Amino acid sequence: MARTKFNPAVAISDLVRYAQETMDLGKYDAIYAKNQLFALFGVTEPADGHDKLPDFQTGILDPLVNYGIKTGLCKEIEKLLFETKVMGLVTPAPGTVIAQFDAIAATDGIEKATDYLHRIGVSSNYLRMPDISKNIMWTAPAPMGDLTITINLSKPEKSREQVEAERNLPASNYPRCMLCVENLGFNGNLRHPARETIRIIPIYLNDEKWFFQLSPYVYFDNHCIAISEEHHPMAITPATFVRLTDFVEQLPHYFMGSNADLPIVGGSILAHEHYQGGKKVLPMFKRPDRKTFASAKYSNVKVSILDWYNSVIKLTSKDKKSLCALADEILLAWREYSDESVGVLAKTTAPHNTITPIACFDKENGYELYLILRNNRTDEAHPHGIYHPTEDMHNVKKEGIGLIEAMGLFILPGRLAKEIEGIVDILSGKTPLNFAEISKEDHPLFKHLHAIAQLANDNGVNLSMDDAEKAVVSYVNNTCVKILECTGVFKNDEIGQNAFVKFLNSVDIK
Ligand SMILES: [Zn+2]
Repeated sequence: MARTKFNPAVAISDLVRYAQETMDLGKYDAIYAKNQLFALFGVTEPADGHDKLPDFQTGILDPLVNYGIKTGLCKEIEKLLFETKVMGLVTPAPGTVIAQFDAIAATDGIEKATDYLHRIGVSSNYLRMPDISKNIMWTAPAPMGDLTITINLSKPEKSREQVEAERNLPASNYPRCMLCVENLGFNGNLRHPARETIRIIPIYLNDEKWFFQLSPYVYFDNHCIAISEEHHPMAITPATFVRLTDFVEQLPHYFMGSNADLPIVGGSILAHEHYQGGKKVLPMFKRPDRKTFASAKYSNVKVSILDWYNSVIKLTSKDKKSLCALADEILLAWREYSDESVGVLAKTTAPHNTITPIACFDKENGYELYLILRNNRTDEAHPHGIYHPTEDMHNVKKEGIGLIEAMGLFILPGRLAKEIEGIVDILSGKTPLNFAEISKEDHPLFKHLHAIAQLANDNGVNLSMDDAEKAVVSYVNNTCVKILECTGVFKNDEIGQNAFVKFLNSVDIK
């Protein structure tokens, strides 16, 4: 049977109808978008779309993008950039999305408004849910609260051609970084993602202009980022607490937190001030208080140490001003606080103490501020950081432990999926255990050498596939617990906890 010739005009009609049905693209915007697409694809004769809309990705978008490649509109390595450009033409304009968001928030409430933003994100392919669903996620049962572990398989590996083409790109400082507001509609290149489909919502935090957007990484439900309109570096200051609580006051179904402002214990982007939030699904939020205290000065703020792996002070109050004022005092005190008996040094040649703060709003209890105490000091024995996973855990995670992981949601690199399979094969005897081979630096399991030795020693290499997998998963789970424990500045033993209380006493909290 001869294949019917692909007609881009039909696919364009389908695509525009898809946008009307899933993203509320208005009647006049639909006519406008159609003409933009006709111009892009060189269509002179319109055609009706299918009666029954084909599958969006495989029946409309993929064929259209492939047609673009075939006719020389874009190169194969720029496929994603081109696809985003096409989708940008049918996604409601930023101003329309903002107006619609505000209208929904006013009539149906803020939660329905973020549902709307999420729907636009999914339908426009800004949030690539079919890719995201490739991620492997499981719950790691653990004594002080279960952890969530994700292996991130949604980020496609760059091809050699792409890396090569990227290297040859001229240097550019526009947009200045991945978070700048100028990303709105940016067409992207091999170094910088296309952002024609990103939609942002302006928001005032601490009387400053900020905006928030959903995160394309979707590490958890409604993962979003609040971003300063100004490009300036991350800083944890008293204003941080005001901004975070301002955010959750306006979006009480989300949490919002900031990465710390120092390397090792902070996030990957320190140059542009931004926070991360989303639905309150992170493991730390489920934890009870370990011990409660009262502040002498702010009697309307409840203070507690959270029963969690690292060192978390939780402040709860209906009074935002008192809550933020006490958080300021704790921050200022912590920046200067040393307790040599437990190895906490505020400063050597540089400052080391900082805080990872996270805010929530609870209908019953009011504002909640979680202050995770952090320290980024290194020494000879711990060149990567004293409160950082030690080298024997780097096979699982080497990067800085940012706020998402500090709250118990681990995002592990995609390589780990294949490596876990390799170790399972060894423990089940499918692949003979050959230490000499694995000891070679270019062996894919080289970095797991010590883990394999330990696992083989504990379990043998004759396990069933099921048991082998259980053994490896349990090893990863235990390592993640240990990593979290590493980040605790006051350890969860008697000496550590006494030192923790001593710090609280130093700020008149008893
Ligand atoms: Zn920026």
